[in-house]
Amino acid sequence: MIIAIDGPAAAGKGTLARRLADHLDLAYLDTGLIYRAVGKMVLDGGADPEDAAAAEATARAMTPADLERDGLRTDEVAQAASKVSAVPGVRAALLEFQRGFAAAPPNGKAGAVLDGRDIGTVVCPDADVKMFVTADTEVRAKRRLKELQDRGLEAIYARVLDDMRERDARDSDRAVSPLEPATDATVLDTSGLDADQVFATALEIIGSRNE
Ligand code: C5P
Repeated sequence: MIIAIDGPAAAGKGTLARRLADHLDLAYLDTGLIYRAVGKMVLDGGADPEDAAAAEATARAMTPADLERDGLRTDEVAQAASKVSAVPGVRAALLEFQRGFAAAPPNGKAGAVLDGRDIGTVVCPDADVKMFVTADTEVRAKRRLKELQDRGLEAIYARVLDDMRERDARDSDRAVSPLEPATDATVLDTSGLDADQVFATALEIIGSRNE
């Protein structure tokens, strides 16, 4: 069983995906972390994340161990991830790893939950379940602000909101694998829902897929 969860930043995808994987005993892959790792490695190497050749070379050199790097969750790294992820060669370099994970999930699991921006459209177009998890921009910015503050990072709401708008626009407008719901995805708007309600709704969507 493959579950594809796509959507913009801080819509609740990660929390939902992790919980579904736990509940259904599936493997979990946060594909955003892969782009974050590439973005951070480019920054650490002193290159510009918009330098396509540097970004692609970094993506080709990336190993699963790089997903364990410190500092992948900052907004600076998120912006760099969003820039490197618009480079076609970067996406091509990372595609096989993601597809391989879905085809042969680690630890003998019978399937996988993958979350990102293009899982239902490009990485796993044949996924058994596709959800597009979204929420109002302001709601997402407030959630991201709280998340950053809970981690002890300094953050200002207006800045977080601006960063989120900029990243949403770049992710939605890029030519390759833009952020958009797959035609056969179920859209789940989490604006007025808490994590438990999102989880319950997702289980209903999964349960109703053969009806
Ligand atoms: O999900 P997260 O916010 O960690 O993703 C960071 C960035 O990585 C996104 O803004 C997006 O540009 C990129 N990304 C992507 N495709 C994915 C997952 C993430 O382009 N499947």
